[in-house]
Amino acid sequence: MKFAYGKRTDVGRGRPENEDSHLVAPADGLYAVADGMGGHRAGEVASATAIEALRAAYAGGGRVDEAIEAANAAVFARAAEDAALRGMGTTLTAIALQDSTAVLGHVGDSRAYLMRDGAVTQVTEDHSLVEQLVREGRLTPEEALHHPQRAIITRALGVDRDVVVDTYRIDLKPGDRLLICSDGLTNMLSDDTIAQTLRRHSDPQQAADTLVDMANQAGGDDNITVVVVDALSDGSDGAVVAPAAVEDDAAAPLLDTQPPVGEGPGRRSIPGLRSLLLWGLPILAVAGVAFGAVGWYARRTYYVGLSGDRVTLFQGVPGGLLGWKPTVDHQSDLTAADLTEADRADLESGHRFASRSDANQFLDRLQQTHEALAGTTTTTAATTDTTDTTATTAAPVGETAPSTETSR
Ligand code: MG
Repeated sequence: MKFAYGKRTDVGRGRPENEDSHLVAPADGLYAVADGMGGHRAGEVASATAIEALRAAYAGGGRVDEAIEAANAAVFARAAEDAALRGMGTTLTAIALQDSTAVLGHVGDSRAYLMRDGAVTQVTEDHSLVEQLVREGRLTPEEALHHPQRAIITRALGVDRDVVVDTYRIDLKPGDRLLICSDGLTNMLSDDTIAQTLRRHSDPQQAADTLVDMANQAGGDDNITVVVVDALSDGSDGAVVAPAAVEDDAAAPLLDTQPPVGEGPGRRSIPGLRSLLLWGLPILAVAGVAFGAVGWYARRTYYVGLSGDRVTLFQGVPGGLLGWKPTVDHQSDLTAADLTEADRADLESGHRFASRSDANQFLDRLQQTHEALAGTTTTTAATTDTTDTTATTAAPVGETAPSTETSR
């Protein structure tokens, strides 16, 4: 089996530094994404230290879970020896390929997805507070998506001497595609959007680039890192699956503008009309398609901004686009005074989303933040309860949780 990959990491639009790190080592069959946390660039040190230790331990002959344990030890030791790095930690999700088997090792809330026969499933389980609340039946998956504490993770590398590594084994088939990514992708795009994008772009680099671009269009609140690995037939297993065999439905509509228009019988005798038909109509058709595409883009985009003093969901692009003006979808009960400084600044230029439901989730988050700041006690109570029930596993992380929330 052969493999092809695409990768991209981006600082996003909401953070000054990129604290994600990643590894693409095709010769070793090792791919990984790490999302660091900790103030003053400590997150960057944590994720880079973990990736380097993972690579070294795996190249030295360790299994992927052993290599992740070595990465944990390396980050833990580094944090212990430097006061400026105390409390730092990182997620780590790694794929190790051996022949046609993928072994995944995973700690934290970065994710791995598998696309097989067009269906995309999440392989890893998030080690996060909200995921735990969902498992306990205390939150619905929908509530988890925009929960104000969704950035708190319950397991990370570097916070304790020992770490429990989840491992998954996948027997790959030609045509399978693996995605590993940081939460800067999955907090910005729904699973459906991610799945559609993976299906649409057969080239792994194009898929990675498009995912990152879309996460940025949706706001880019966090650093975004994406690694896409494609399993390809090398001919020895009899199957013929090349990347091009995956259909690219995005390209299809464009083909409509390609064939020359107006080659009908009886028209050949009029050279002026013929050249108009040959050149003018296709140009008009292309211009029409382009105008329609801009309109389509302008109308399918949403943003949250301020209308007067009121927090408002608009359909369209802030300021409008080529005559397509934004329209008010609905107004929320929140006013500018209910927002944090950062959110207010964010909304002044309009915070964009790729779908209405993403925008609504964002509005819910603003509402929850407002309620939390207004002194509502329900959130605090729920969190305290959880800490109690998970004291054995969450205790070491409890110390880092507050900084996790502010820094990630
Ligand atoms: Mg992140």
